[in-house]
Formats: sequence, C-alpha cells, structure tokens
Amino acid sequence: MNTTPAVLVRDLHKHYGAKRAVDGLDLTVHPGEIFAVLGPNGAGKTTTIEILEGYRDRDRGEVAVLGVDPQRADRRWRSRIGIVLQSADDQAELTVRELVHHVALYYPRPRDPEQLIDAVGLSAKASTRVRQLSGGQRRRLDVALGIVGRPELLFLDEPTTGFDPEARRSFWELLLGLRDEGTTILLTTHYLDEAEHLADRVAVVRDGRVVALDAPAALGGRATHEALVRWQEDGVTRERRTPTPTALVGELARRFAPDEVPGLAVLRPTLEDVYLEMVGEAPRASAGDTTVSTPLEEAVR
Ligand code: ATP
Repeated sequence: MNTTPAVLVRDLHKHYGAKRAVDGLDLTVHPGEIFAVLGPNGAGKTTTIEILEGYRDRDRGEVAVLGVDPQRADRRWRSRIGIVLQSADDQAELTVRELVHHVALYYPRPRDPEQLIDAVGLSAKASTRVRQLSGGQRRRLDVALGIVGRPELLFLDEPTTGFDPEARRSFWELLLGLRDEGTTILLTTHYLDEAEHLADRVAVVRDGRVVALDAPAALGGRATHEALVRWQEDGVTRERRTPTPTALVGELARRFAPDEVPGLAVLRPTLEDVYLEMVGEAPRASAGDTTVSTPLEEAVR
C-alpha cells in the first residue's frame, strides 16, 4: 500500500506585500481520498492550490506533492498530476472531440477520448466547436482535459461553479467514480453540499491557515453536538436541547401513544451551520475579512 501522502504541506507561507495570503498552512492529503478545502473569499485557497500545482512559488514552508517539491518538478511529475486549467481561447475553433483527442496525445497512457466525452456528459456536443459551448459545458470539457492523462492526483478549483443542479449531480458521480479508481482529488468549493456529498475530509481555511479539519459529518463536533428536539403540545411549539435525543423522543412517543408525536423534529447543526460559525468569528488583527453571523446558536437555541 502506498503510504506516501499525496500532498504534504507544512507551515506554508505566501505573502503579497503586507498581505499574508497563506500564513502557516498545514495539510496532509492521503492517497485515494477526496479532500475539500473550504473557506471564504480571499482565505488563500487558490494561492495554496497554485503552489501545489507548481504555478506559484512559496515564500517559506515544506511542500511535497506525490513526494516531489513542485518548485523542482519535471515533466514526468506533471504527467502524474491532473490540473483543470481555465479555458484556453486559442483552441476555441476546435471541436470537443478534436480537442480531447489532441490533448490525449500528450500522455503515455491516456483514457479513451470517446468514453471520456461520454463520461463528462458531452456526447451530444462532441462535434460542437469549443467556443459554442455554454459555461457549464466548457467546465466539463476542462475537467475532461484534466483527467484524460489518468492523473494520480487531480486538482479542482471550484469545479462546479456555473453548473445546473443536474450537471452538478452527474459531475459528482464522475468524481466519485474517479476516486473508486484510486484517483486522489483535492478540490476547493464554496458549496457545502458539494463538500458533504463528495469529501472524505474537509479543511476549513481562514486567513491563510487551516482552522478545522475533519470528516464532513464530524466537523466542529457536529456528530456529538447537542440536538434540538421540537414538537407540538397543547397548541404550542415545545423545544428542548439534549445530548440524548433518542431518550427524549422515546419519552414523547410513550406520552402521545398510540398517536404520532405532533410536529416532531430532531435537529442538529448542518455543515453550513458549523462552517459559518468557524469563519464568522471575529477576524484576526491582520485580516480584513467580513464577519458572518453564527446560525449554529440559532439552530440549537
Ligand atoms: P476565493 O474564494 O475568492 O477564490 P481564495 O481563498 O482562493 O479566494 P486567494 O485567491 O488565494 O483566495 O487569495 C488570497 C489573498 O491573496 C486575497 O486577499 C487576494 O487578494 C490576495 N492575492 C492573491 N493573488 C494575489 C496577487 N497576485 N497579488 C496580490 N495579492 C494577491
């Protein structure tokens, strides 16, 4: 079994003048996992990803991607990495089929272009020129180009921005299929449902560093957080916070038997609740991010 981390980042720093875009960031991505990086605008996600891809130099810190420092990487390393680049306009006159076949030629062991076009849902557009694709279709093509070379590690920066709900769902299936084949995927996203559906682990980045890292279901103590039990009784809504909702629901069930407990609900904080709580704390003195409200308290009040 391969135990070398797919990505290892220790105390990464990248400053733009006085702006600390990345400020002591640590990250380990295991081989074969889907790892999502969440964080507000300007948190340092794209800067970090671009350093990992070898497109930006760091100021300080240790970085190994597939065991190699991206600043010293060669062509062979690059062929093991899948990078989804933003649309290249000079290829806009090619058709989808021509472009995928063309890019496949650069790799020693490419995927079958026709199968790939089908997998990203572009079969009906295979003969369409790239410039005539919609934004979401273009993004799917970008992803096809990122995975045509069978990368061991795939970087995706906000991959489903601009997708309609159906396209997002089928794109998620595509990514889960890639993971099942053994591809490691590191993605950034602003969609918490996307992180929840796809990611084995998520990191929340704020002010250039990781402030939380866990499985989506456990982030911020979600799984063990007190639940809010709500029901209707005597014409009013009753609520009680409890660490043992099953016991309370059992008690209510006995009290109302043989009827249903009216309006019964057991609520726990969502990933969005814990995320907003994490990124909404008072900003550190050096940061300029906006303060966000904390719905977690409202959700379990
Ligand atoms: P978003 O969610 O909006 O994509 P992000 O988390 O990807 O944000 P970055 O793009 O990494 O954030 O930017 C981090 C910080 O660094 C921001 O404050 C940004 O303005 C700044 N920054 C990024 N690139 C440069 C640059 N080339 N020169 C100066 N400042 C930059």
